[in-house]
Amino acid sequence: MVEEQKIVRKTDPKFIEEIIEYGSKYFTKEEMERLRACINCGTCTAGCPSGRRTAWRIKKIFRRAQLGLKEDALKDEGLWDCTTCYTCAERCPRKVPTTDAVRVIRNLAFRSGVANPRHLAVCGYLFRFGHAVPINDETRVVRKKIGLDELPATVHKYPEGLKEVNKIVEETGFKKVVDEAQKEAQKKDEKK
Ligand code: SF4
Ligand code: SF4
Repeated sequence: MVEEQKIVRKTDPKFIEEIIEYGSKYFTKEEMERLRACINCGTCTAGCPSGRRTAWRIKKIFRRAQLGLKEDALKDEGLWDCTTCYTCAERCPRKVPTTDAVRVIRNLAFRSGVANPRHLAVCGYLFRFGHAVPINDETRVVRKKIGLDELPATVHKYPEGLKEVNKIVEETGFKKVVDEAQKEAQKKDEKK
């Protein structure tokens, strides 16, 4: 009985609506509604190349969405192990937009302050260098060798553009979300 009460407390029946509503900003509502059609057959998980090497089980995320297990879904670290290869989307017998739904759930996770530390590091590069993957010496050499300018015509070549990059990340609210996620990650580290 105690266990049952615990499960009921953790349930948010509106979670699936939230995913559908949020996902409908980027995909069609009709596609997102297909999430309700998942029968948890496991075909997606069986063909998932990432799941062969990690603990990521995509079908679990859809079950959690249907059951309203929001916290479990958003905090599933495997969410970040999906490579968005779309194998599952091609194989799903119920035409669930599996990969797109994962991207939507990741977005919701990120907005709620849950983020993969490696992704946060990449965001840091973007704020500092204007690139998620800044150029390195090796790439400079290769560029020169094949007759290109040593630096691409981006913030690397025009460092004054960095101010504009940072203005965009501030004004879109992206910086704020990343800062909050970093604070959450720090708190998590301190608890270890
Ligand atoms: S293959 Fe489709 S129906 Fe089957 S578990 Fe995955 S998402 Fe659900
Ligand atoms: S899109 Fe993601 S979940 Fe689907 S098969 Fe590829 S890695 Fe697995």
